[in-house]
Amino acid sequence: MTEAYSPIRAPRGNTRTARGWIQEAAKRMLMNNLDPDVAEKPEELIVYGGRGKAARNWECYHKIVETLDRLENNQTLLVQSGKAVAVLETHRLAPRILIANSNLVPRWATWEEFDKLDAAGLMMYGQMTAGSWIYIGTQGILQGTYETFRGAAQRHFNDTLAGTITVTAGLGGMGGAQPLAIKLAGGVSICIEVDPARIRRRLETRYLDKTTNSLNEAIQLAQLAKRRREAVSIGLIGNAAELLPKMVQLGFTPDLVTDQTSAHDPMWGYLPSARADEDLNSLRTQDPKAYLERVQSSIAEHVQAILEMQRRGAVAFDYGNNLRAQAKLAGVSDAFSYPGFVPAFIRDSFCEGRGPFRWVALSGDPSDIAKTDQALLELFPEDRRLNEWLSFASTQIAFQGLPARICWLGYCERDRAGLLFNQMVRDGRLKAPIVIGRDHLDAGSVASPFRETEGMLDGSDAVSDWALLNFATGIASGAAWMSFHHGGGVGMGYSQHAGLVAVADGSDEADERLRLCLKNDPAMGVIRHADAGYEKALSTAKQRGLDLPSIP
Ligand code: NAD
Repeated sequence: MTEAYSPIRAPRGNTRTARGWIQEAAKRMLMNNLDPDVAEKPEELIVYGGRGKAARNWECYHKIVETLDRLENNQTLLVQSGKAVAVLETHRLAPRILIANSNLVPRWATWEEFDKLDAAGLMMYGQMTAGSWIYIGTQGILQGTYETFRGAAQRHFNDTLAGTITVTAGLGGMGGAQPLAIKLAGGVSICIEVDPARIRRRLETRYLDKTTNSLNEAIQLAQLAKRRREAVSIGLIGNAAELLPKMVQLGFTPDLVTDQTSAHDPMWGYLPSARADEDLNSLRTQDPKAYLERVQSSIAEHVQAILEMQRRGAVAFDYGNNLRAQAKLAGVSDAFSYPGFVPAFIRDSFCEGRGPFRWVALSGDPSDIAKTDQALLELFPEDRRLNEWLSFASTQIAFQGLPARICWLGYCERDRAGLLFNQMVRDGRLKAPIVIGRDHLDAGSVASPFRETEGMLDGSDAVSDWALLNFATGIASGAAWMSFHHGGGVGMGYSQHAGLVAVADGSDEADERLRLCLKNDPAMGVIRHADAGYEKALSTAKQRGLDLPSIP
């Protein structure tokens, strides 16, 4: 259907064609996910994350839009893997849309089975926010990376990365956010990248300050900035598998070390070290087995250097790219001696129900987002991290598609923000309704044993009852639309997760919905972690009066 493709942009403003603002919001958010400024390959309905799609095919897309426009305020549309399958009579406060994407019975939950069904036109891959119509472009990546490094600062460096050096690698689609996020958290970074074009792109977009191809110069620049407590990012051209071991030989130990090369994909994503006269591209096509052996030995050297830096005092963590697992396959038996980023820095936030909270201005007017930024700064003046982020984001981030914002808020905060936005729509301070949602990567919405639920205190990493309870809780609490997906982030068989979206249209009904769903949704994070025995979650639950019958 690519031949019939014409670019889609969501309507703006406060006039709707659908029969309620929730239906209108869902339609505009579906369209916004496919806006060429937002989506990776809009002509194929691909929003982000490999092949994360917004609708199964173009026929399904048009049918969803048409159905949303006729959907009554006591009806619910069912969407199965990107296809509108039924409209049911429900009730006023029910979700207007229920979405299930890419779910397979666990025994069949493999890429092979999914690909077969996908090719037969029976399924689509929804990723996390692609198929649930609440993706907002790269702002989400930058903010998530910032939260991770801020979490590291809080855990290990007195709440700031000022006076610290981070060594990492990979300045690609997601990894490219690292230098700016580290800088925002106050730190110095040396970011190793094998592809000079990627470094140039990050310099041009001001995600990176300077570049060099000399290891000695990079170390000197970093050490000087560290002494001056200046936040500077340095792109170092070269291969991490060579440069990290050289850093170890030189006796240079950073304060933090991680990696965001595409190590999850050894054949195409991680580039092994090579001599200047070698052409590894032809080796890859002519002898893939020999090529993979080269990748494995490079990854082994890379991880051994990380482990040595850790022994010498650096804080090491895995950034969700499966580098440790690849190193283990390559014979590095202690590769898992350093933790993943969630148990290392994010879990404390999850224990308080803190996680990504995002909102979108249906007016299309950036001034609506500026007003909500200001309102949140006034609502939470004591939250330093939020203030730091919003002050930065409001001046430095270019919008993609409908103007949007993301920040992390916790239990008993998101509902306050939602009700405030609703009041601002009601009294005309905002020009049109606001859509409020979140990533599926949240405190109590996902089961993903290699990422969000790695190393749970009680060993419950693979229990996905919690994600299902989160889905059901959103439905019972008046969410505008809810989704349940499989395989987002880490692939088929590795995760199950739920998404929630709410709409602030200024009505009393929206007050009722927002008060419940934006309170109960982050509550699931506190509950899940309290049940697993985390002290912080137990004390949050107690302080905020959560009723947990099985906890004394
Ligand atoms: P990408 O493929 O766009 O970029 C990877 C970059 O690494 C490329 O620029 C490549 O040139 C560079 N590279 C590859 N091998 C190298 C080497 N040996 N030395 C130096 N540079 C090398 O990928 P991306 O979107 O930036 O994502 C990177 C990885 O991080 C992926 O594995 C992704 O799954 C993971 N990731 C995880 C999370 C998370 O868990 N929250 C978030 C973001 C990314």
